[in-house]
Formats: sequence, C-alpha cells, structure tokens
Amino acid sequence: MTECIFCKIANKDIPSKIVYEDDRIVVFHDLQPQAPVHVLIIPKKHISSMDDLQVEDTELIGYLMVKVKDIAAELELENGYRLVNNCGEDGLQTVKHLHFHLLGKRKMTWPPG
Ligand code: AMP
Ligand code: ZN
Repeated sequence: MTECIFCKIANKDIPSKIVYEDDRIVVFHDLQPQAPVHVLIIPKKHISSMDDLQVEDTELIGYLMVKVKDIAAELELENGYRLVNNCGEDGLQTVKHLHFHLLGKRKMTWPPG
C-alpha cells in the first residue's frame, strides 16, 4: 500500500532504525519510545489490523510470533518484556498496518491504561 507509512518503512522509502529484517518481517525502533527498548514488529505484507487477518495469514503471523523470542534475545531482554497490539479505535491503533510493540528494559505496570 503506497500511502502506508509502515509499508514505506518496509520498502525503505522512508528511513527507520531497523534492528532485524528478513523476507517476511521487519523490526524497527519506535519513533516515540515508551520504554528503554521499544521496537515495532511488522509483517512486510500490508495487513491493516488484527481484525483484517485472514486464514491465509496464519503461517505468516505464526512465524512472526515465533520470531519474538529471538528478537527479544537480540535486544537483551532476558528479564522479560511486553508484547502489545493495539487494534481499532478503542485499542488506540494509530497506524493502520498490523504491528506489535515489543517493550522492555523497565518494569511494566498492570493493568495497562
Ligand atoms: P499504534 O498506536 O499501536 O498504532 O502505534 C503506532 C506506533 O508507531 C507509535 O508508537 C508511533 O510512535 C510509531 N510510529 C509512527 N510513525 C513511525 C515511524 N515513522 N517510525 C517509527 N515509529 C513510528
Ligand atoms: Zn502497510
């Protein structure tokens, strides 16, 4: 999707601080970090939100989820981390390209706001 900011990041049309990339996913630092480590994990395929996932995306999303522990290890989050998805209006999703926030290096609070 040409006007999607995260598609532009995946395509290198706009700069970002990429920490990991392969043929299916990209991981880059969030512009407004909410923790000492705050990266976004996205599929390269444009999927607008969790609500837009299709059965054919099962393998891709399973792959992304299995990769989380490797990305966390690479970022030295051995003490734990939080993985967050914001979906839709009530979930406060602002960028309409599916992404997972990976936050770490501080003690999180619960419940989230
Ligand atoms: P969400 O509110 O879940 O949709 O999260 C979107 C996230 O994308 C926010 O944490 C923003 O700070 C982040 N963000 C927006 N634009 C960029 C960008 N160009 N590079 C990195 N992070 C971005
Ligand atoms: Zn996109």
